[in-house]
Amino acid sequence: MYEEFKSGKIPYIHCSCGHNFFYPRDRCPKCHGSSLEVRISSGEGTVFSFTEFGQGVYAIIEMKEGFRLYANVRGKVKIGDKVRVIPGNGRPEFEKVEDK
Ligand SMILES: [Zn+2]
Repeated sequence: MYEEFKSGKIPYIHCSCGHNFFYPRDRCPKCHGSSLEVRISSGEGTVFSFTEFGQGVYAIIEMKEGFRLYANVRGKVKIGDKVRVIPGNGRPEFEKVEDK
């Protein structure tokens, strides 16, 4: 699973009940079912919450698929901004999607 992060992709777990979640578990946290599969996120999300530290931003991203994760974001963002994952080298990192 961690190999996927190195390619800049974000895997998540999809349950047959329709619930998507991020942290790997044996059972779905919603229905406790075990009919789970790994899927790859679109890499698109929205800033749910963030903290600035030094030059960086650390945010909770709500992904299009409905799960949330913590990640670094390049540049300045605010809550509600659209972001997308940058193909990275280890940990997922996001950048703001500029408004058109
Ligand atoms: Zn479920």
